[in-house]
Amino acid sequence: MPKKDITMRLLSIYNALYRAYGPQHWWPGETPFEVMVGAVLTQNTAWSNVEKAIANLKKHRLLTPSRMSSLTLGRLATLIRPSGYYNVKAKHLQNLLVFIQDHYRGSIKKLCAEDGAVLRQKLLNVSGIGEETADSILLYAAGKPFFVVDAYTRRILSRHGLITQDADYLQMQRLFMEAIPADLLLYNEYHALIVKLGKELCRKSRPLCSGCPLERFLPV
Ligand code: SF4
Repeated sequence: MPKKDITMRLLSIYNALYRAYGPQHWWPGETPFEVMVGAVLTQNTAWSNVEKAIANLKKHRLLTPSRMSSLTLGRLATLIRPSGYYNVKAKHLQNLLVFIQDHYRGSIKKLCAEDGAVLRQKLLNVSGIGEETADSILLYAAGKPFFVVDAYTRRILSRHGLITQDADYLQMQRLFMEAIPADLLLYNEYHALIVKLGKELCRKSRPLCSGCPLERFLPV
């Protein structure tokens, strides 16, 4: 498909989703650091479980890099237990905290001032931070226009003939970033709307296409 047609298609899909669902108010987090923590905790679990873990951290006033860094691995794991895989996630959070300290002297402000591409590469070098988590941090915590791709994105794009089944993360991300403007608000809402659609209608098996806002974009 020519690039201008992809642009038109992706923007039409966005407009259809926005008309259907409205703004999603992502990311639910009061500070960039809370968003970063949430991005790690949300791996392989429902957001409702992340909320409980974050509430625990908030209750103990631990949602700052310095306070969280003072915790032992075991204590951190206990506090984030509701998010599942808590021992692994506690280690991932500690890796992130060490990264923030080593590269930005513990300052989230300094981290957010980093060049987006440089920050992305650095984040990917942190054990436990994959592409989706890194891009979530870039977009929703640091305010850098990097499109976040997830399993819902893959499912919806492939069902609509916009990618092949074997497309990798970067190919899917490039599809968006080369076709639509690098606009923070657009990227923010677009990903959130894709998640909404994937949860409500575009299920893994038996998608509810009839009446779906994207029904008219299905390949014939
Ligand atoms: S539910 Fe059907 S129409 Fe809607 S996005 Fe999924 S495949 Fe497309």
